[in-house]
Amino acid sequence: MKRRQLRQLAAYLWAAPCSLPGLLLAALLLPCGGRIRRQQGALEVALPPWRWLRRLPFAAITLGHVILGLDLATLAALRPHEQVHVRQFQRWGVLMLLAYPAASLWQWLRGRRPYWDNPFEVAARRQSGIPPEPR
Ligand SMILES: [Zn+2]
Repeated sequence: MKRRQLRQLAAYLWAAPCSLPGLLLAALLLPCGGRIRRQQGALEVALPPWRWLRRLPFAAITLGHVILGLDLATLAALRPHEQVHVRQFQRWGVLMLLAYPAASLWQWLRGRRPYWDNPFEVAARRQSGIPPEPR
């Protein structure tokens, strides 16, 4: 096994505790009309076309190496942003499940916006080429 493959395997294992809930959700949703595809080392899962899902407060969410999105077109459009989150999970591993909400809580305690000002989201917007939210 080459060094690069070993590094990728380690990244999958390090993020596995976060990917597992996403995989379980995917396994439940696929028989209900969800769709799945592999893109850039992650699994993209399009949710079933249920109308109530459109009311979720997000269009896509990343759990480790699993990205759940409203549909395949949304997943493609948001891929650069969600791939930044995949790399964040690869860096932080299971600690991401604490670090992300803690960062949101910290922003909220400072009177800022928990989602928009979360440094993980700021980095994802910046690195994906999507300009930051205007103030
Ligand atoms: Zn994001």
